[in-house]
Amino acid sequence: STFAEIDLGDAVNENIRRCKYVKPTPVQRHAIPILLAGRDLMACAQTGSGKTAAFCFPIISGIMRGPPSQRQRGSRTVCPPALILSPTRELSIQIHEEARKFSYQTGVRAVVAYGGAPINQQLRDLERGVDILVATPGRLVDLLERARVSLQNIRYLALDEADRMLDMGFEPQIRRIVEQMDMPPRGERQTMLFSATFPREIQRLASDFLFNYIFLAV
Ligand code: AMP
Repeated sequence: STFAEIDLGDAVNENIRRCKYVKPTPVQRHAIPILLAGRDLMACAQTGSGKTAAFCFPIISGIMRGPPSQRQRGSRTVCPPALILSPTRELSIQIHEEARKFSYQTGVRAVVAYGGAPINQQLRDLERGVDILVATPGRLVDLLERARVSLQNIRYLALDEADRMLDMGFEPQIRRIVEQMDMPPRGERQTMLFSATFPREIQRLASDFLFNYIFLAV
């Protein structure tokens, strides 16, 4: 199978060509159609499986097909339609770099925010607008407390390396973050959880955050 057989739209397909991806990896081949169909997904995926593209492609094409992103009127609060949570600064930077390549010339803008670095540059990046926010949980809680980000328009939530986030003790922050999406007014949210392992805590997270989800193990 090829990417051309999957309806991601011309702009995303052009970027896939630019990245020289010829054929989808197994996780991409199975996850992308499920996500394009609007279903929630819990996927077993290791590093190197191509999981980043598996969740980025449907998010980018969904944003391109949806309403334009908003900002809270008269404030510096941004309301992105997509959030990707990742455990570490390194992984966040990596996801952001891929998301930028995949969204080249689509009008979709990805911004990254992580802890252990000055917040000012990140605030300036956010102020220029954001469709896809890639963030570590701690830094995102900080941005929420400063009212620089609102999660009330989130339509796509991806939890990457969810097992590692729990191992690092981020469960309280993750729960606080997702609670904010459940406050009205909220739109329909599509949630995707990627994890290498499936201990009881991950299954609990999935049953709390995902709706009628498909479980994918490749
Ligand atoms: P990931 O598992 O998302 O960290 O991706 C691992 C590496 O594989 C990254 O360097 C990607 O750019 C690359 N990659 C992802 N999907 C494909 C594909 N379909 N064909 C070739 N390389 C890919």
